[in-house]
Amino acid sequence: MNKDLAQLRDLLVAAQTEESDCAREQTKAEQDVDQVRQRAARDQQRLDSGAVTSPKDLENLQHEIASLAKRQSDLEDVVLEVMERRESAQARAAELTERVAAVQAKIDDAAGRRDAAYEQLDAETASVTKEREVIAGSVPADLLKLYEKLREQQGGVGAAKLYQRRCDGCRLELNITEVNEVRAAAPDAVLRCENCRRILVRTADSGL
Ligand SMILES: [Zn+2]
Repeated sequence: MNKDLAQLRDLLVAAQTEESDCAREQTKAEQDVDQVRQRAARDQQRLDSGAVTSPKDLENLQHEIASLAKRQSDLEDVVLEVMERRESAQARAAELTERVAAVQAKIDDAAGRRDAAYEQLDAETASVTKEREVIAGSVPADLLKLYEKLREQQGGVGAAKLYQRRCDGCRLELNITEVNEVRAAAPDAVLRCENCRRILVRTADSGL
């Protein structure tokens, strides 16, 4: 999305640049029209004043007025053409401004949701860490040490539930001898999985 935004911004800058280039061109073309118009008006005044009497001069003057009219018309076409280009650049810039705003809003929204998610994760981490500290404090030191060692060796899981005669850590089912040993063990005995060596935790679903 940031790439889209960068591309849109580039296009917007290009449209705005074209718009201001056109504005300058328009001003220049309008000045050209003005100059020609003023000169034609002066010529017309001279013609109307009757001060020019020589047929040759009169002809020249009329000729110049005619060619100035043609020149003015051509320059006015230039002005119109520049104005059209300017308007389309303006429209493009307006549309791109809207699109940039829309993409920016999406990015801001996503960033807001991401920050909220981080905040929630931080809060959860803090609460789980605290919970763990409380529980760890109630576990005998040697058992905690064993658990920490296994946890390190077994990819972060040091103890597993015994679920329907199966170790929930390595998923291996206990054989009948092992099941009998578990059945015979004292309730507070620390049991280990013969396969993965994790501490086995007995529950009502252990299938004993
Ligand atoms: Zn196991």
